[in-house]
Amino acid sequence: MSEPKTNTKTTTDFASLNLHKDLLKNLISLGYQKMTPIQAQSLPPMLAGSDLIGQGKTGSGKTAAFGLALLEKLQVKRFRIQSMVLCPTRELADQVAKEIRNLARAVHNIKVLTLCGGTPFGPQIGSLEHGAHIIVGTPGRIEEHVIKGTLVLDDLNLLILDEADRMLEMGFEAALDNIIERTPLDRQTLLFSATFPKQIQAISESIMTDPVMVQVASTEEPSSITQAFYSVDNDSERYDALRLLLLDNPVESAVVFCNTKKETQAVCNQLHDDGFSVLALHGDLEQRDRDQTLLRFANKSVVVLVATDVAARGLDIDSLDLVVNYHIAHDAEVHVHRIGRTGRAGAKGKAISLFNDKERYKVGLIEDGLDCVIEPGLLPSIDVLNNARVQAKMSTIQIDGGKKQKVRPGDILGALTAKSTSAKGGVEITGKDVGKIHVQDIRSYVAVNKKVLKHALRKLAEGKMKGRSFKVRHLVV
Ligand code: AMP
Repeated sequence: MSEPKTNTKTTTDFASLNLHKDLLKNLISLGYQKMTPIQAQSLPPMLAGSDLIGQGKTGSGKTAAFGLALLEKLQVKRFRIQSMVLCPTRELADQVAKEIRNLARAVHNIKVLTLCGGTPFGPQIGSLEHGAHIIVGTPGRIEEHVIKGTLVLDDLNLLILDEADRMLEMGFEAALDNIIERTPLDRQTLLFSATFPKQIQAISESIMTDPVMVQVASTEEPSSITQAFYSVDNDSERYDALRLLLLDNPVESAVVFCNTKKETQAVCNQLHDDGFSVLALHGDLEQRDRDQTLLRFANKSVVVLVATDVAARGLDIDSLDLVVNYHIAHDAEVHVHRIGRTGRAGAKGKAISLFNDKERYKVGLIEDGLDCVIEPGLLPSIDVLNNARVQAKMSTIQIDGGKKQKVRPGDILGALTAKSTSAKGGVEITGKDVGKIHVQDIRSYVAVNKKVLKHALRKLAEGKMKGRSFKVRHLVV
């Protein structure tokens, strides 16, 4: 393979791209006025049919970049699997599928199918028999389908690897090989990755032809993030530092990154025992628990989420106030990627990193990467232990009814805010007390202000939605 070419085009007007007019019109209705840097650089070569390596993290607009290239290439009338996006986690696959559906909503009859682990295999076979244009999924499950012959990729002309570095970190290399060797050689291949370890270079050389390289400088790091670094001596000091810092920085939503699943669970348990509103997110948890955890964190019923890097990939929360690196990241790119989850969309964010003597060299790597000098800070005094316990403002109620029972968000809001009929009605619930509402297939979740929790539980249990009552329960943190 020759050296990758670098694309430097930077026109930011979507109209310059010669996209199908329905796609273009829909972009305006989505509020996408200008291309983001990664879109401006990657769309022209992708639309021209080139293979491409893109360096972009969550938040750069990379999904819409490859999503538009994919949709422009698709021949809707040919009902065959023409493109496939491979993602490291189910959460990311769901987000990618959602973004593609959003981009495609002005074009009729485009069928996107997600194939991920953690969901039953049988129904996926049924869906595949009905056919699709686009597959989005995780490598393990897709490999199972291609090996069993339930997924045939003979008509695939576009393959996209999203967050390729994470897929390799998660041990998906063999699965990727197995899948890719069952796709046509003359396909177009796009690879997106936040970091570029040697393994990625090797893979891209073996599966791509003359790729164009698009890099959006990681120095784009938003300056709205305040960073602080603290040195600790040992594990118990590390935990104490975390506790003091969380008490000293009162926030609504914080993520603590840990290195291993075991450590993630242990830190979560310890914080829980110390009175924090906290949940853990890692790969040993059942998919349903992971989904519920993400939902409860997003609806602000949980303040602290302790997570592994990999599990946190699916996290897409606009107002994350604080990121804590329980162990400092092993290089500048991962560091920037982690802390980039806070301070989004111009909001103020804070990032805290802890390191011990053995990890001090990583501080040097980050100093080099970010071209800055890092001065370790002084930990808050133990007086902060007198601060109030860190508790969430909201609580989540689970309702055992969802789309299948024709429950809609409006029904839930209506049941909660209906005037009390009982004489001892007491507190009334207003729209302001009700947070995010998620309606899923057979369940729904609603966040309510803790102050009205008991009343809300009673109203939902006693009241009717769609002419019937549903079982409800409070998800205790
Ligand atoms: P991503 O990096 O793909 O996770 O995208 C980050 C967010 O930016 C998503 O919520 C997209 O809907 C949004 N987005 C993508 N492209 C644009 C654009 N050109 N203008 C405004 N928002 C965008």
